[in-house]
Amino acid sequence: MEFTQKHWAVVGGGILGMQLANRLAQQGQQVTILEAGPALGGLTAGWNAGELAWDKFYHVILLSDTALRGLLREIGLEKETRWVETKTGFYTDGELHSMSDTLEFLRFPPLSLIDKLRLGFTIFYASKARNWKRLEGIYVADWLKRLSGERAFDKIWLPLLRAKLGESYRQTSAAFIWATIQRMYAARRTGLKKEMFGYVEGGYARILDGFARHLRAQGVRACTGFRASRVVSNDRGEVIVEDEHGNRSVFDQAILTVPSPVAARLCEGLSAEEAEKHRKIEYLGVACASLFLKKSLSPFYVTNITDQSPFTGVIEMTNIVPASRFNGHALVYLPKYAKSSDPIFRMSNEEIKTGFWKSLKAMYGKLAEEDLAGFRVARAPHVFALPTIGYSGKLPPVSTSLPGVHILNSTHIVNGTLNVNETLLLADRELPGILQAGRQQQYNNITINQSPQNQ
Ligand SMILES: Cc1cc2nc3c(=O)[nH]c(=O)nc-3n(C[C@H](O)[C@H](O)[C@H](O)COP(=O)(O)OP(=O)(O)OC[C@H]3O[C@@H](n4cnc5c(N)ncnc54)[C@H](O)[C@@H]3O)c2cc1C
Repeated sequence: MEFTQKHWAVVGGGILGMQLANRLAQQGQQVTILEAGPALGGLTAGWNAGELAWDKFYHVILLSDTALRGLLREIGLEKETRWVETKTGFYTDGELHSMSDTLEFLRFPPLSLIDKLRLGFTIFYASKARNWKRLEGIYVADWLKRLSGERAFDKIWLPLLRAKLGESYRQTSAAFIWATIQRMYAARRTGLKKEMFGYVEGGYARILDGFARHLRAQGVRACTGFRASRVVSNDRGEVIVEDEHGNRSVFDQAILTVPSPVAARLCEGLSAEEAEKHRKIEYLGVACASLFLKKSLSPFYVTNITDQSPFTGVIEMTNIVPASRFNGHALVYLPKYAKSSDPIFRMSNEEIKTGFWKSLKAMYGKLAEEDLAGFRVARAPHVFALPTIGYSGKLPPVSTSLPGVHILNSTHIVNGTLNVNETLLLADRELPGILQAGRQQQYNNITINQSPQNQ
C-alpha cells in the first residue's frame, strides 16, 4: 500500500530527531521538529564560556564513523574535517603516565608483566568475540577480573569503567566493555591501520548549522523553544502534541526522541506495560565542566584517573583543536558521569567549581589561581541507558499502542556505545519499521472510515 504524504512531528531535535526528519523529508513526508531548547542539536549543541565558544560536551569523530562521515558529505562538510593522532594519559598513585603506545604500556609501572599480558589478552579476546548476548548475562567487573586479574582491574579497568559509568559500573553487563572495545577496533576492521580523532573546523556548531540548513532546504520546519508536555491520539487516529503553555498542534504521526522517562510522562495513554518499561530504564547522566586555562595541562586528549577524584576524567580538547582558536587558551572538560539522583545535579555551579578546581590544582601542581580564564558547567541528567544484565530483553517497543505515536531514543542502541555515529545508524535502522507501522495505521483508518456505521 502506498503511503501518502503525512505530517510528522519529531519531538526532540537532537541528532536523532534531525536525522529522522532528514530521512522522512527525503521520502516525501512533511516534517516539523519540536525542540525544547533554544536551538537544534541536544547534547551536541555549543555554548560560550566568556567570549570563547565551543561544544557544551566534548565531541570527536572517529575515522571509522562511516555514517557520520556520510552525513558530513551530505551536508558538504566532510572536507572540513581535521584528523589528529592523540595520546592517552593515566593519572595513578599521584603521578601522570603516558599510555599511548605498546612501549609505554609495557613500561607502565603499576602493573607486572603478567598483568600486562592478561590485559592485552582481554582486549584481543573482546575484539574477536561475537556473542555479545552471552556477555549481557555477566557483570562487567566479574568478567574483567576473571580475564585480566584483580590488579589490572583496579589499575586500568576500574578507572576506565568509572570514567564512563561512575559507580553504576556495578550494575553494568560485560556487553558494555565489549561494545567499547569493538568501537576502538572498528577502524582496524575496516582496513585502516590506526584510529584517529577528528573534528570539523568550527566544532559541532558548524555541523548543526549545516545540518539545519540542509533540513530547511528540504522543507523541514523546526520549532525551537517548544517543550512538549503531552502527546495524545484522538479517535480520528491523529496525534496531538501540546506544549507547556497549552498550545496544541495536530499531526498524522509523531516520533518522540526524548529520554524514556520523559516519553512515559508525555504519553499518558501508553499501556501500563509500555510505560513501566520506559520508567524502568536506568539512565546515566553527566555534569561536565568546561574550563578555559591560560596554560596546557598535558599532551593527552584523555587522562583516565585511578585515584579518588570529584570528576571522572580529564579531556584536553586543545590537544586536538589548536589552542589558537581560543586566543591561545587550553580548553579542558571535566566530566562526572552519575545517576540523575546524584548530589552533583543539585550542586550550584560555584560548589562544583570549588571542588573541581581544588582537585585539578592538586593533580597538576603547575596551576595557579590566575590560570583559570573561564568556567561553566553543563548538566544532562539523561544521557544513556545503563546496559544492565539482560538489557536487550527489557526494551520498550518503538511503535507504541497509541495510534501514530512512536518512541525511539538512545535506549534502542543495544550492542553499541552512545555516539553520534550509532545514533545516525539507529535512525536508518528503525525508520522502515516506523513507516510500516504508519502505513498499517493509515490502512486501519481507511477501513474504519469506510465501515457501514461511518457512511
Ligand atoms: C559528555 C559527552 C561526550 C560525548 N562525546 C561524544 C563523542 O566524542 N563522539 C560522539 O560521536 N558522541 C559523543 N557523545 C554522544 C552524543 O552527544 C549523542 O550520541 C547524541 O548527541 C545523542 O543524540 P539524541 O538526539 O539521541 O539525544 P539528545 O541530544 O539528548 O536529544 C534529545 C532532544 O530532546 C529534547 N527534549 C527533551 N525533552 C523535550 C520535550 N519535552 N519537548 C521537546 N524536546 C525535548 C532535548 O532538548 C534534546 O535536544 C557524547 C555525549 C556526552 C554527554
